[in-house]
Amino acid sequence: MTVNRSMSQVAKTSAPRIGLHLPIAGGLQNALTKAHALDCDTVQIFSRNPRGWKAKELMLEEVETFQRVRHETGIAPVVIHANYLINLAAADEVIREKSVASFREEVERGIVLGADYLVVHPGSAKGTCEADGVRTCGESLRAACDGLDLSRFRVLLENTAGQGACIGHRFEHLRDIIADCPALNLGVCFDTAHAFTAGYDIRDEDGLAATFDALERNVGTAQVRAVHFNDSKADYNSRVDRHWHIGLGHIGTEALARVAAHPKLTQAAFILETPQDELGDDSRNLAALRSFVAGRSQRP
Ligand SMILES: [Zn+2]
Ligand SMILES: [Zn+2]
Repeated sequence: MTVNRSMSQVAKTSAPRIGLHLPIAGGLQNALTKAHALDCDTVQIFSRNPRGWKAKELMLEEVETFQRVRHETGIAPVVIHANYLINLAAADEVIREKSVASFREEVERGIVLGADYLVVHPGSAKGTCEADGVRTCGESLRAACDGLDLSRFRVLLENTAGQGACIGHRFEHLRDIIADCPALNLGVCFDTAHAFTAGYDIRDEDGLAATFDALERNVGTAQVRAVHFNDSKADYNSRVDRHWHIGLGHIGTEALARVAAHPKLTQAAFILETPQDELGDDSRNLAALRSFVAGRSQRP
């Protein structure tokens, strides 16, 4: 009896948590309610309008409602994705200053809400070289987080597709930024579609193994706290960022199933950022992810 119980606990904790990015229209707590209705463990949200510099201030009532609904639904972890205007690697000083201020605000909002993670892209090195962009990103992160309590809230750097002049398409970039910010305890968000179009060929077993070796070597797979689980509409090595429905893109069902079953990723929250064009898209993509995760326990 005791043995059975402890075994089932092990089985439960060894499966990753599953969720998706959901809108916050009508109130931040609506994303939690929707995630719960879709039988998700975790959720990703924007804590504000993702396409504007100015964020509406969080009201105490909003925060209390969010925390109450979070407690009722048990959704965890809560992941926030930083807004899209932030460019921590900007060569332009005005943009960089605005980005640092906006990112600091994102961190403060996340802490107030009691969220767990804040995902951010390292940024674009347009007008300079990648090495400078990587350095600037580290400096910006340190400036933005100066004096903030990150003991229960973690910033995760997301790997990118490398579109345009975006840095973060090599794990080495993430490694160097993390090393530059030792006090921040930065983690990593691994986006499957970004990795694939950035040139990490995760389609077959050997390619996936090589990708995970590189991830382990540079940042440590234990630091991967979130996985953006997306198929890709853009082709391998295209450096184009275009997410697609699970199993219908260039990565494909088998390869994505291997990622979901990877023993090094059980600590990560798996979050879909797939399109929601038609009613039922979310449920279909969630069902696919769920079947991959369920399938892992049947493997020898
Ligand atoms: Zn992202
Ligand atoms: Zn992503």
